[in-house]
Amino acid sequence: MISIIGAGPTGSYCAYLLAKKGFEVHLFEEHPKTGLPVQCTGIVTKNLFKFCPKSKEFIINNFNKVQVVAPNNSYSEIPIEEYLLDRTSFDNYLLNKALDNGAQIHFNHKFKEFKNNKAIIKTKEGLINNKANFFIGADGPTSSVAKQANLYNNREFLIGMQARVRGHFNENTFITFFGKRIAPNFFAWVVPESKTTARIGLATKTHTNTYFQYFLRALNFQTLEYQGGLIPIYNNKQRLKKDNIFLIGDAATLTKATTGGGLVTGLESAKILAKSIIKGRDYEKETKKIRFNLQIHKKLRNILDNFNDKDYIKLIKMMKQKKIQNILKNENRDFPLKMLFKLAVKEPRLLKFLKKAHR
Ligand SMILES: Cc1cc2nc3c(=O)[nH]c(=O)nc-3n(C[C@H](O)[C@H](O)[C@H](O)COP(=O)(O)OP(=O)(O)OC[C@H]3O[C@@H](n4cnc5c(N)ncnc54)[C@H](O)[C@@H]3O)c2cc1C
Repeated sequence: MISIIGAGPTGSYCAYLLAKKGFEVHLFEEHPKTGLPVQCTGIVTKNLFKFCPKSKEFIINNFNKVQVVAPNNSYSEIPIEEYLLDRTSFDNYLLNKALDNGAQIHFNHKFKEFKNNKAIIKTKEGLINNKANFFIGADGPTSSVAKQANLYNNREFLIGMQARVRGHFNENTFITFFGKRIAPNFFAWVVPESKTTARIGLATKTHTNTYFQYFLRALNFQTLEYQGGLIPIYNNKQRLKKDNIFLIGDAATLTKATTGGGLVTGLESAKILAKSIIKGRDYEKETKKIRFNLQIHKKLRNILDNFNDKDYIKLIKMMKQKKIQNILKNENRDFPLKMLFKLAVKEPRLLKFLKKAHR
């Protein structure tokens, strides 16, 4: 038996892959449903379709352009191919795939701790003991499974705050705003769901609400709903397993430090773990490639964290060049090494930003 804690996208996807191969899989989810509350903006690259079909069931918009705005309001528009998810529908789609293949879901079941090689789960009727051959922590950024298995470390987080708003939007372009006065250590965004609604928000390490309220006031849209959550910052010292306990997705801090995106890498980790269990391979070794790429994102974030306004203005100006735009459009930004290499060859001035990494 395999017990998966958390029926978010990574837990359900892992459950689906294992159940499909005949394993007895139980998913334990603390909430009464999956996919709520929403704690995500929902932008994904086309790499998502390695894991699921391009379906209108959960894709509600697509983008062919991102507008990148500098602190002095100059901007560059980059052609892209990205998609917007309805997270509640997406999480339910993946859960249903798992259930259709024989996995079992236990809602209102909250993992508390490990005792004598069993998981102690709190239910409405009281505590139950769960014995399994493998325990998988897919329980998000503040993973109790990671804490209980001593795999938590000194995690760092970005705090994300977002509002769904009503207004008029160019529906196939999303906008990002950079600068220390807007969202230090990250960026702010306006992501249209349609011509009339959008998700607007930002993430920072501290004082998030102050920056967020300022941003909301500056844009002055009618707010429909507030959302928010934690984005774990990838740590390459993070262990992903201990004995028969494994971590995937946000529970393992597998997010891109440049954008906060964790869906594609999280699903990739779920796939690698399922394959490792099925084939008896070493999960940590098998994650080497995604971890290497996440470390590159971390290094890029480190450079951006040391940018001043002038650096952002210079970088965003360079992004106006066709040769740069072609690379950004065509290369894989989830796994960015090749893209960075091509950028450095086509625009060697970008290498000057490397000295920012050492401050
Ligand atoms: C503001 C914000 C914006 C984001 N925008 C993007 C984006 O645009 N693109 C992108 O790719 N990523 C984005 N992310 C990141 C993305 O949301 C996560 O990477 C993704 O949700 C990780 O999936 P997961 O299954 O690992 O964890 P989660 O989605 O967090 O799922 C964890 C599940 O475990 C359950 N759980 C937790 N504790 C327990 C417990 N003790 N017992 C039982 N169940 C438990 C939870 O209820 C939840 O259902 C964003 C995150 C934030 C906060």
